[in-house]
Amino acid sequence: VQAVFRSNLSHLLELMGSGKESLIFMKKRTKRLTAQWALAAQRLARKLGDIRRDQKQILVHIGFLTEESGDVFSPRVLKGGPLGEMVQWADILAALYVLGHSLRVTVSLKELQSNLGVPPGRGSCPLTMPLPFDLIYTDYHGLQQMKQHMGLSFKKYRCRIRVIDTFGTEPAYNHEEYATLHGYRTNWGYWNLNPKQFMTMFPHTPDNSFMGFVSEELNETEKQLIKGGKASNMAVVYGKEASIWKVSGKEKFLGILSKYMEVHGTVYYESQRPPEVPAFVKNHGLLPQPEFQQLLRKAKLFIGFGFPYEGPAPLEAIANGCVFLQSRFSPPHSSLNHEFFRGKPTSREVFSQHPYAENFIGKPHVWTVDYNNSEEFEAAIKAIMRTQVDPYLPYEYTCEGMLERIHDFCTAPGPAPPGTPQSPFVVAPNATHLEWAQNASVAPGAWPPTHSLRAWLAAPGRACTEACLAHGLVCEPAFFPFLNGRDAFRKLQVPCDSTESEMNHLYPAFAQPGQECYLQKEPLLFSCAGSSTKYHRLCPCRDFRKGQVALCQGCL
Ligand code: UDP
Repeated sequence: VQAVFRSNLSHLLELMGSGKESLIFMKKRTKRLTAQWALAAQRLARKLGDIRRDQKQILVHIGFLTEESGDVFSPRVLKGGPLGEMVQWADILAALYVLGHSLRVTVSLKELQSNLGVPPGRGSCPLTMPLPFDLIYTDYHGLQQMKQHMGLSFKKYRCRIRVIDTFGTEPAYNHEEYATLHGYRTNWGYWNLNPKQFMTMFPHTPDNSFMGFVSEELNETEKQLIKGGKASNMAVVYGKEASIWKVSGKEKFLGILSKYMEVHGTVYYESQRPPEVPAFVKNHGLLPQPEFQQLLRKAKLFIGFGFPYEGPAPLEAIANGCVFLQSRFSPPHSSLNHEFFRGKPTSREVFSQHPYAENFIGKPHVWTVDYNNSEEFEAAIKAIMRTQVDPYLPYEYTCEGMLERIHDFCTAPGPAPPGTPQSPFVVAPNATHLEWAQNASVAPGAWPPTHSLRAWLAAPGRACTEACLAHGLVCEPAFFPFLNGRDAFRKLQVPCDSTESEMNHLYPAFAQPGQECYLQKEPLLFSCAGSSTKYHRLCPCRDFRKGQVALCQGCL
């Protein structure tokens, strides 16, 4: 069956079920964004022309909302608890539905079992049964439930699973044996999936796929209206739960801010002002999403206190014409030194509250400063008050951008099979860089197309993620197999005295003393993340479209 774009979302709202506060929040959001989705669908349809798209049977099992996983989120929806995950799931559902796929949505174990065809009352089914879905979108909680209740089918069909995983899962943590042997075993990891099956909230872990979410897009008239209606001295604090306001040094930097601006908050409270919120702050209480947007439209500044990490609110603020001010983390936060990241299957170092805002958006929209340095902080406030900014939303966070990206995931064949395909390469004048000939015979079905590959030998201690970014490129793990051979080392003019093949998430790599070259033995361990001062890593990079980093320039 061919997939047809949909613009009426009322059937989706029915599919989403009811009852829980979390579902009510998600449905309100979907309803409010209907017109934006419809417009985006029209635009993408025009862009794609008459490409044939197959309708997929898709199960969306939102594990964290099931009672069986504790559902700690739903009761906190109206109390300032996290909403980012619900924003993202609402948008995933909308995107898949608008693309014309056939959806089932489950938020309980019982519904999951009945959709999978597991007989009721049967804990785990030992038989493999045909799976009536082409794809299953779930999260780590859902993955656990499926493993427990699908019996052998789980193993058989696991390549159909996509795991929504906000902060990402790096290959070293994903490979069970390797993680166990080398200290990468965490609460969440070691599922032995293809790392591309994990889908993140921001494009921070290129070993995974980038799912994202959307923020409301303004038309030109709205943008002009907002610009005209800004109160130049109004700041809104990022933090709807009082605990976020318990931050050291707050008196000092909030004191400075309040000299220049009127400070507003949207902190949840029961009957009286939470003690964490100073008296000079005008607290509106937790606002419904549309009213929160209205507040952002009036404000000049949106200021973060360092937590929550990597949420949707800063993008919404910037889209509504605010400047986002956030603290720089020195040393960076990671699973090694911060409670929040502890046990998460990633070694990523986070240098500010919102690295995407810092690195992909930056000034004049985003200012990242040291909050402990009063002079730097005050200078930033003064400079921000003098700057005029336009509302800005990166394309990848618009409805059209998300549809384009998801459409691509659904149609693109999986990553290239392991091995070293024969492809002609061209050595650049600079011996540490090589590129595939533009007219190279592209391996059939390979995605992304191999002509977008640019290979680099990274400096010791540098991860491929960073090495590629330093050249204005992104690391593309699908290209690792092309670099994992003696031929690649030879073409890069790397002098190998010996070559060994081992399991190591940093390979392929070159070690200077001894001139040893190392190849990757286990394709599941190909990893953009990770570094060691012992190795120059061989890094597969590719170009990307500005505003849509998930896609290369010549591929749609
Ligand atoms: N939000 C809201 N009311 C408020 C403040 C925020 O509805 O008073 C919404 C906001 O629009 C955003 C969502 O909360 O889409 C989640 O934002 P945040 O970045 O705080 O991430 P979280 O920590 O909740 O996951």
